[in-house]
Amino acid sequence: MRAKEFGTWSRKAAEWGVEYRDTLRERPVRAQTGPGEIAARIADNAPETGHDMETIFADFEAIIVPGMTHWQHPRFFAYFPANAAPVSVVAEYLVTVMAAQCMLWQTSPAATELETKVMDWLRQALGLPADFTGVIQDSASSATLNAVLVMREKALGWKGNVEGLVGNDQIRIYSSSQVHTSIDRAIWVSGVGERNLVRIPVTGKSRGMDVAALETAIIADQQAGLLPAGIIACVGGTSVGACDNIAEVAAVARKHGLYLHVDAAWAGSAMICPEYRVFWDGIEGADSIVFNPHKWLGASFDCSVQFIRKPEELVRTLAIHPEFLKTHGHDGIINYSEWSVPLGRRFRALKLWFLLRYHGLEGLRAMIRNHVKWSEMVAARLAAEPDFEIVTEPFLSLFSFRHKGAGDPDAHNLALVNAINDDGRIYLTQTRVDGAIVIRFQAGQFDMTEGDAKTAVDVIIEVSRRA
Ligand code: PLP
Repeated sequence: MRAKEFGTWSRKAAEWGVEYRDTLRERPVRAQTGPGEIAARIADNAPETGHDMETIFADFEAIIVPGMTHWQHPRFFAYFPANAAPVSVVAEYLVTVMAAQCMLWQTSPAATELETKVMDWLRQALGLPADFTGVIQDSASSATLNAVLVMREKALGWKGNVEGLVGNDQIRIYSSSQVHTSIDRAIWVSGVGERNLVRIPVTGKSRGMDVAALETAIIADQQAGLLPAGIIACVGGTSVGACDNIAEVAAVARKHGLYLHVDAAWAGSAMICPEYRVFWDGIEGADSIVFNPHKWLGASFDCSVQFIRKPEELVRTLAIHPEFLKTHGHDGIINYSEWSVPLGRRFRALKLWFLLRYHGLEGLRAMIRNHVKWSEMVAARLAAEPDFEIVTEPFLSLFSFRHKGAGDPDAHNLALVNAINDDGRIYLTQTRVDGAIVIRFQAGQFDMTEGDAKTAVDVIIEVSRRA
């Protein structure tokens, strides 16, 4: 593609994007296509000769867009948000155009040095102490894997990478049942093994780990000759926002010399608001924290931030120095590829820099506070309806509810959530609380208004009356 055509189609894509964002409310939030419907419209082989851009773009609009679920739709209330603020999309275009591979300082000094700066902006914005250092990972799953690998290496006296796990002491890691499945995966991939992930029961409304049970489990493992290595706590669990008591968990970790990783993938963004930091009180006692600006904050996917107290431990676990990756002649530089499992790195700091400068922390705080307020409003309105029950009260902007209908309650609520999503005006998802199906509601989309929250209540009530 030559420069003139590149310009034409770049402008066309930008114009399409502006129109798309502007008209999202007219589209159903969740794709309304059945399995295989889109695939049936796509050729079975790559073309031998190239197609013109008019045809390709027309097919994109006709075939692909109808099969998209619109995550940037202001009435997306499912899962957690994956916000891509327009200013971050602009930054991503620039990143895509430069398409630099930012694995080492010298492969793009600006990418490394900007990352260092915006990580410290975010550390301050979240109220974390100065002894935390941030790094951008592709996902929370990767950050958690990193943390588990450090737990493993520290516990094994840095021998695991060389010797493997066979013949070494049996590592044990502790978490509640409320943590995300990325924790299970990290345990599998690190070789620790699911059997060595000790699930601590949860207590109370916050569904946090029973800290006495945690300590009992650690001591029992020590006495049995096993090797406690670390604890994974959560702040804002995926299902209904469970929160461990970080101060108490950190005290246990400290007492027994265990590494503490905190998964705040979704809720971490809210910590730019000082009043919500009570939910992770004691966070300064963590060794590693992950939160995803690509969820609530507005930095387009992917952008996951890991704060680490001792980056040298992560580098000791992951760094490899073949000659072709050495940077000769420069001392004191950071090569962020030594802080993550993948070698290659996209330039992710640019969109954070654009986002934080354009909206300012006050702008982002206002958005998050509104989401919390509107979620509480939706919960209050549903609570006032005789046939709705709030199952878990709002934690930040997430709560769950159930509709009382005829027949089996699980089947009824699954049918209701499907009917709501088939309607298309809003998008919700379900989870289980104490074994029973509930419907989740989270407010978090970047362009959401109070009107969208009111529409959500109206749609839920209207569809429930039809169900
Ligand atoms: N942790 C929590 C609490 C989550 O909610 C999620 C995803 O929703 C993850 C981890 C995994 O995030 P990622 O997709 O960035 O790996």
